Amino acid sequence: MAQRPNLLSHLQDLVTKIKNMTMAQDRFKFVFTANEAATEGVTEPIRLPNLIRKAMSLARAPISKYKVGAVGRASSGRVYLGVNVDFPGLPLHHSIHAEQFLVTNLALNSEKDLCELAVAVSIDGEEFGTPCGHCRQFLMEMSNALDIKILSKPKHEAGSFSILRLLLPNVLPKGSPFLLEKRDNCLTFSGSGGEICSSDCSHLKCKALAAANNSFSPYTESPSGVALLDNDGKWYYGWYIESASSNPSLGPVQAALVDFVTRSRGKRFNKIVGAVLVEKNNAIVCQKRTAKLILDTIAAPNCDFKVFHCSVDGAKRLKYLRDTLVIDTSVGDYAGLHY
Ligand SMILES: [Zn+2]
Ligand SMILES: [Zn+2]
Repeated sequence: MAQRPNLLSHLQDLVTKIKNMTMAQDRFKFVFTANEAATEGVTEPIRLPNLIRKAMSLARAPISKYKVGAVGRASSGRVYLGVNVDFPGLPLHHSIHAEQFLVTNLALNSEKDLCELAVAVSIDGEEFGTPCGHCRQFLMEMSNALDIKILSKPKHEAGSFSILRLLLPNVLPKGSPFLLEKRDNCLTFSGSGGEICSSDCSHLKCKALAAANNSFSPYTESPSGVALLDNDGKWYYGWYIESASSNPSLGPVQAALVDFVTRSRGKRFNKIVGAVLVEKNNAIVCQKRTAKLILDTIAAPNCDFKVFHCSVDGAKRLKYLRDTLVIDTSVGDYAGLHY
């Protein structure tokens, strides 16, 4: 009798292991719990390469034919995959780099920091090296950017980590907001009278507004978000992520496509049948034409694309700043603050 609890706990362990193995073996999986990653051989950061072939197999590179994979461990302990995505019919600068994909994947999953990163630099996935200049700059927007550990590993040799600080000295001004920080841009639909849907409503435009409220646009104050709908009625979203160096910025359609690639189980982009862009009224950076261009090129021919404008709810924003930044609102002005 005394052995029963042991047997039960043994069985429970077995069930958990089988469940982890089943989950980890999902070929469309982009996010792994620490246990699932361990099942894949990633028992410590230096073993991140054990997931690289899985990442590379998920890349969508019909133009470059060069499948890039990135594997990163977040501060939560979860392990994330990133892949490159390029789009036939569109100029190359619309492409998503694997590291940008990975960081967007972190943002979509509310992660706080990226701790270690492994980027494959050979087509056999045996060599690991530094991110391209574009991605180094993109990574700089994170709070711990300078301390992110990047794996360097020649073929058949042991790898070692170096820190991003050695690859790109800090170029961001002190006090900059950070990409993975929680934020609320306090945007509301213009002219809507302020009516608020429930947080779990199914309106595509409300998903896009929620995305815009997460948007990281400290340099131009032009937040935007996109929500996509597939042929099975499933929705995806993503938000504009800005880079201090302009060009590495990731557009809201690309960010929503990261969500699509990670959760659509291999669906092609032409299964996207609906899309909504929400952006700020009279923003300096306007996404409408670019978003339409991308969707016209890759989504279903009859994809229904709508644009809604929003503006900042000033009172809500002020309260948000008071609550989150502990600002003394009795002095000074807010011209220098975002929104
Ligand atoms: Zn890159
Ligand atoms: Zn709604």
